[in-house]
Amino acid sequence: MLQVYNTPLKRKENFTPQDPNHIKMYVCGPTVYATPHIGNARPPVVFDVLYRLLKEEYPKVTYLNNVTDVDDKINARAKEMGIPIRDLTEETLKVYQGMMSSLGVVFAPENMPRVTDNIPPIIAFIERLIEGGFAYFASGHVLFQVAKYHRYGKLSNKALDQLIEGARVDVAPYKKDPRDFVLWKPSDDETPGWESPWGRGRPGWHIECSALIKEFLGDTIDIHGGGIDLSFPHHENEVAQSNCGNGVPLARYWMHNGMITVNGAKMAKSLGNVILLEDILKEYDGEAVRLTLLSAHYRQPLDWTRKRTQASKETLIKFNNALEGYNGEGVVDSKSFLKFKGALEDDLNIPLGLSIMHEITGLIHKGQGDVRQNLQATLKKCGDILGVLQKEYKKDLCENEVSLLEKRKVARSNKDFKLSDDLRDELKSLGIIVEDTKDGQKWSRI
Ligand SMILES: [Zn+2]
Repeated sequence: MLQVYNTPLKRKENFTPQDPNHIKMYVCGPTVYATPHIGNARPPVVFDVLYRLLKEEYPKVTYLNNVTDVDDKINARAKEMGIPIRDLTEETLKVYQGMMSSLGVVFAPENMPRVTDNIPPIIAFIERLIEGGFAYFASGHVLFQVAKYHRYGKLSNKALDQLIEGARVDVAPYKKDPRDFVLWKPSDDETPGWESPWGRGRPGWHIECSALIKEFLGDTIDIHGGGIDLSFPHHENEVAQSNCGNGVPLARYWMHNGMITVNGAKMAKSLGNVILLEDILKEYDGEAVRLTLLSAHYRQPLDWTRKRTQASKETLIKFNNALEGYNGEGVVDSKSFLKFKGALEDDLNIPLGLSIMHEITGLIHKGQGDVRQNLQATLKKCGDILGVLQKEYKKDLCENEVSLLEKRKVARSNKDFKLSDDLRDELKSLGIIVEDTKDGQKWSRI
């Protein structure tokens, strides 16, 4: 039985879907104006594992991720670069999708709707809010009137004074209350805009999620996810809009992942420690980056260090070594697999799941024949759910590498461990990891 930590209730709950024949899940997607950093990759990877786990249990799961391709940051960046806005968003989205695919996260185009392709449902949603008396028009803007939604602040558990404090940065003279937020704003001739009942303009950020969810998934979904940094004000505002516009709750479960720090420090442009995904993917294989992103519990902060990425890389090598000779056949060992699945069903306890995969790896090295093959099938199946162990590692060796491995084998049989360790280091510098098993030394490429 899947249990998830539901943010507004601050506790783990049994997951009971609205309709077990069709699970609906939504995670706020990228704003496409700059190359993604490692923090942008955590929600897509974490929720991709949840998606894979749900697919294991339920016949149909629809998982939507929006693309914010109209935003003030996009406008500013396109102006700075002197290129049309559409060129910037197209190119950035292409780069983003390429990197996500290296991380094993792939969305069908229909599950990644763009805001600019869906303006009419956004306008319709805003009209409904105005009709219901939840939003008002002022100085070319349409604003959501927070005071009309009495449960405002319940999702992020913020008190009224914190809410006012949070909204203070965005004070505008046309707001009735500093907490009120923009649903629609006017566009000048140079800014993208669409005709609307309130003149030419563009949607605010929060309304796009409420409107896209309604358009593609319906009024209430099962799971809404995102980074904890989005819980206020973004998700709080989504909740307010959707509850007022639809009269029913937006999501049954709200799940939030923790933030990424770098060597113990907050990742920030001002600190100069932002790790770009494109840079890390030059150094590490996509699966190693993915596994690193999964190596801490998703609700905890994840400290990005070289030691952590290196450890994930070596874990993958170990798992791949254990799969050597696996021919894709074999019966999944239900006891081990259920143990793994049980860990993930406990609010996605992936670190525990990984330790069970290490146990299975140990059993593979001890096992033989069918037993070994069945355990290999089990390890592969666990990998499928985590989205790793999806490709064959390069197996060819060059002459020099063959001779170094041969020398090391001889050194070990002569019990010359100093030489054997030196050779291991030399091979490592060539990108080959050597592991000693009861069947002799095993190698794999980094
Ligand atoms: Zn959103």
